[in-house]
Amino acid sequence: MTSLDDLPLRDELRGQSAYGAPQLDVPVRLNTNENPYPLPEPLVARIAERVTEAARNLNRYPDRDAVELRTALAEYLSRTAGHPVAAGQVWAANGSNEVIQQLLQAFGGPGRTAIGFEPSYSMHALISRGTGTGWVSGPRHADFTIDTEAACREIAALRPDVVFVCSPNNPTGTATDAATVLALYEAAQAAKPSLVVIDEAYGEFSHRPSLLPLIDGRPNLVLTRTMSKAFGAAGLRLGYLAADPAVVEAVQLVRLPYHLSSVNQATALAALEYTDTLLGYVEQLKAERDRVVAELRAIGFQVTESDANFVQFGRFADSHAAWQAFLDRGVLIRDNGVPGWLRASTGTPAENSAFLDAAKAVYATYGTEHTEHSGGDRRTDKESA
Ligand code: PMP
Repeated sequence: MTSLDDLPLRDELRGQSAYGAPQLDVPVRLNTNENPYPLPEPLVARIAERVTEAARNLNRYPDRDAVELRTALAEYLSRTAGHPVAAGQVWAANGSNEVIQQLLQAFGGPGRTAIGFEPSYSMHALISRGTGTGWVSGPRHADFTIDTEAACREIAALRPDVVFVCSPNNPTGTATDAATVLALYEAAQAAKPSLVVIDEAYGEFSHRPSLLPLIDGRPNLVLTRTMSKAFGAAGLRLGYLAADPAVVEAVQLVRLPYHLSSVNQATALAALEYTDTLLGYVEQLKAERDRVVAELRAIGFQVTESDANFVQFGRFADSHAAWQAFLDRGVLIRDNGVPGWLRASTGTPAENSAFLDAAKAVYATYGTEHTEHSGGDRRTDKESA
């Protein structure tokens, strides 16, 4: 049988493993930060209507520049994220992963370097490698906030081309304040200048306002978002960015022609018509997230402050054994490779209660390890969807 080693594969891909969060059929699935609520039936019907309309024109290529959709996304951001943006400042693609890939194709690449502050969203590193961009793992404090001084020092020394700030951060749930982002931005501009990407995939779940207003007057600052989480549409594959129109022009240099299908555009437009209903679910999820945090702490776990639709909790002497113990109880959560910690997405109230029941049992068997976490002892290549 032919193995990868037998193929004329790029050297930097040898020995790498593909992204692969387990997709197991268990009663409670809290491992990929999905929204647990299916889309409401009237929205499903509206999608069918808009897709039917799109189907009548499937003999034609889609609107290459997705103008109607970008206009609707700009209206959504302007209304909900505290800063007016125009359609020309917004770009959309198949999930924010593709947006990130397009950014790296345009601003990274061979001979260029990106930095992120880990543990963080593993795809920043993986897409960097996939686009031939060098990857450097920057520091966080023991409480998983970014160590601003150390990060600025590293940016000054490294002079990266792209800086990733994931806020709220996956897998820790940690939000980054505007002052820290501005300090990193200034350091990155002084060093190179370079592109700073704020990945706000979980922005709608945060206790804090969006970092969107920071793009004002900062052409090298980009904010990415997704409809996979707050809009409950992970299956749709729709992510977007907001930035200076010049950044949008830049990604248009590398995107594939007609990358965003008419069916995707029609579905996303239908979902955006139901923004208020869907944001109502977000409010329920935030309340549930806060309940889960409080109850995990009452059990005795340490829980990292969460601004997202998931919580990181621990500490476990053997987090993989604890992960398996949850699975044995029918609850699939995530081991992101952060030593001592596991991550659980916020589900429906019933799913969260099942998770908390399992957590009590796991705590009784495995207890927790009360040593301080060191931000430095981590594996960096685990996936965190
Ligand atoms: N950014 C972060 C921080 C994420 O956690 C995810 C999904 N897990 C993404 C981006 C990608 O989301 P999507 O491609 O579904 O928009």
